[in-house]
Amino acid sequence: MDFNDTSEEAAFRAEARAWLEANAERLKAGERAPGLAEGRADQELIQRSQQWQAKKADAGWACITWPKEYGGRGASAIQSVIWNQEESHYKIPPNIFGIGQGMLGPTIMVHGSSEQKQRYLRPMLRGDEIWCQLFSEPGAGSDLGGLRTSAVREGDQWVINGQKIWTTGAQYCRWGMILCRTDPGAEKHKGITYFIVDMKSPGIDIRPIKQINGLSGFNEVFFTDVRVSDDNRVGAVNEGWRGALTTLMNERHSIGGGAGGPDFGDLLQLAKETLWEGRPAFADSAVRQRLARFYIRLKGLQYTGYRTQTALSRGAIPGPESSIGKLVGAPLRQEMASFAVDLQGAAGVAMDGAASADDGLWQLMYLATPGLRLAGGTDEILRNIIAERVLGLPPEIRADKGMAFKDVPTGPKNT
Ligand SMILES: Cc1cc2nc3c(=O)[nH]c(=O)nc-3n(C[C@H](O)[C@H](O)[C@H](O)COP(=O)(O)OP(=O)(O)OC[C@H]3O[C@@H](n4cnc5c(N)ncnc54)[C@H](O)[C@@H]3O)c2cc1C
Repeated sequence: MDFNDTSEEAAFRAEARAWLEANAERLKAGERAPGLAEGRADQELIQRSQQWQAKKADAGWACITWPKEYGGRGASAIQSVIWNQEESHYKIPPNIFGIGQGMLGPTIMVHGSSEQKQRYLRPMLRGDEIWCQLFSEPGAGSDLGGLRTSAVREGDQWVINGQKIWTTGAQYCRWGMILCRTDPGAEKHKGITYFIVDMKSPGIDIRPIKQINGLSGFNEVFFTDVRVSDDNRVGAVNEGWRGALTTLMNERHSIGGGAGGPDFGDLLQLAKETLWEGRPAFADSAVRQRLARFYIRLKGLQYTGYRTQTALSRGAIPGPESSIGKLVGAPLRQEMASFAVDLQGAAGVAMDGAASADDGLWQLMYLATPGLRLAGGTDEILRNIIAERVLGLPPEIRADKGMAFKDVPTGPKNT
């Protein structure tokens, strides 16, 4: 990627900026767009997010990399970077549609039927219908192939029973995409089928999980005889793993290192404004060294991200290399938040927005970033992916290879 805009890119940037200027409020110097802290006001945040998304969609600025036939612009990955850069200068609500638009929509585009594309993609793009991803289970996280939620066919319907967990947004989502075991006699990664499920269906019990930061971003979801029409099956019966891989590849790419929230500029500002015995913390050489190291690592990450975007804009699909961004970015943001909390001394332990610097955003980020290292693949799993699929090192030994799922040994069962 050339860091200077080509003439087409400059024209695109100008067009994006003109629309934003006419439709959104520009951030003043030192002001930040509402971020993580806004999560405290759930319903209001959802509404504002939906309104902004609909406005963008009506003007052709939503999901700009989606193909035109699904309401996007068919824009390149580089144009998407440009759009994000420009949008970040405006006071807009945080995007709560990432799972649908970044991961599930692209999966429907590849594996869905034409009716599914027709019915679901446009409301998803517009933010009218919010989507959740029902993959993880208590016994199937990193080893997602071990999932046990079952779907049994009855005529032109499927009956789902089981439990999912860590389902982000399930409490306010209209639709979910779920992986179910449909053939326990097949090998672990075979015999799985992918469905679209109406989250308002009878038999779905959604229980929010209270997190360390006091919010409930995700949920346990229980399924008891939940019926899904065969029309809502995504891809072939027992071949859901193919769709799951599409979702996961897009997940790693769309999560990257980003958690939203405060950035390096905010950290620098904090170090300048925080007084240590009457002097700005920034005057301390150890503080400056830490800041310099953060800056260098962030720049490395940014340019590696640009390289990926360049590959994508030349037609590559998100590959295992995307794991690098998250593996480096998530711990980096965790360290930055930890450093910001340390800088604040005793005030660092206060979660009260008014009592802590930056409205308590660094404290929220400090509590949110450990989760970022798990979501979309833990550090250990990402290292395995890089080792095996980027570096070509020998794969992990799989004791259950070739074994029917029902015969895979499990821990002692309750009798
Ligand atoms: C903020 C957040 C949001 C999430 N949102 C969703 C969502 O919307 N939908 C959804 O389906 N899921 C969601 N998840 C779940 C997430 O995908 C899982 O947490 C993740 O896949 C890890 O699974 P697990 O938590 O079951 O940990 P486990 O897989 O049980 O792992 C436990 C530990 O063992 C390590 N480990 C496991 N296997 C190996 C191995 N082969 N080699 C080395 N180490 C290993 C792991 O790295 C980890 O440290 C979310 C999680 C978080 C934190």
